[in-house]
Amino acid sequence: MMENTILEVQNLNVKFNDSFALRDISFKVDEGQFAVILGPNGAGKTTLLKAILGLIPYEGTVKIFQKRREELTKEDRFKIAYVPQRFEGTKSLPLTVYEFLEISFPPYGRNLKDSISEFATVGDVNRLLSKKISSLSGGELQRVLIVRALLSKPKLMLFDEPFSGVDKIGERAFYEFLKYTKETYNVTILLVSHDVYNITKMADVAICINKRLVCFGNPEDVFLEENFAGIFGEDVSTYKHKICKEGGPCEFYKDHESNNH
Ligand code: ATP
Repeated sequence: MMENTILEVQNLNVKFNDSFALRDISFKVDEGQFAVILGPNGAGKTTLLKAILGLIPYEGTVKIFQKRREELTKEDRFKIAYVPQRFEGTKSLPLTVYEFLEISFPPYGRNLKDSISEFATVGDVNRLLSKKISSLSGGELQRVLIVRALLSKPKLMLFDEPFSGVDKIGERAFYEFLKYTKETYNVTILLVSHDVYNITKMADVAICINKRLVCFGNPEDVFLEENFAGIFGEDVSTYKHKICKEGGPCEFYKDHESNNH
């Protein structure tokens, strides 16, 4: 079966004030895959998402749906959903969840009401629809934001650190929801996370960065099973990465050594 590449990043460089925030990053994600971007604080994870979204200048190539960013149509861009980690503005919104979802999408020829009920069922958001958006917990708000993103029927969903402010139960519900979303709607997911242990078990592709690309591949190949739990500990700045060179041996090194690679 031919693989359908949804996102391809080639030799991406991003500079802030003449210093590289990202250097020579290349990877690809195929349709329906769940890809996780891992890396310590300041590694450039958010910067990578912003470059993919075309929000900051970069050198190199970002192809989405096999087109360069400049070639994307309005419809293509609508199929890319960014789910923020927080949405502080919602705290002061005098709206119910339903109203919030409704005003987020102007009518464009679909029955929004039906779509809201369909996606809200998926995310267990139906029971929240009549609640004030300002009263939701972190996990509930997150599911609402995902349902909001799903309303545009995206093909590619980008998540930045979705677990901040979410408890363990919320986190589990979120994984289940993501899995269901991916399988039901065949969306491709790109998610920034610190949570190596759980997320990597679910992910099809791991992309580790620390300004440069540190690893890229199937999580089971990228991380040795016996070292898996310890790879990213509490102190993510000192975890060990395993790098597998193409066609060559794999080796571990500490994160602070990665700049030499
Ligand atoms: P964290 O896990 O802490 O969220 P991150 O991996 O997402 O970190 P980024 O936020 O992408 O890291 O930041 C990467 C580097 O680029 C950091 O050193 C940051 O200070 C710097 N940086 C990010 N945005 C800008 C900007 N607009 N101007 C200058 N420097 C920036």
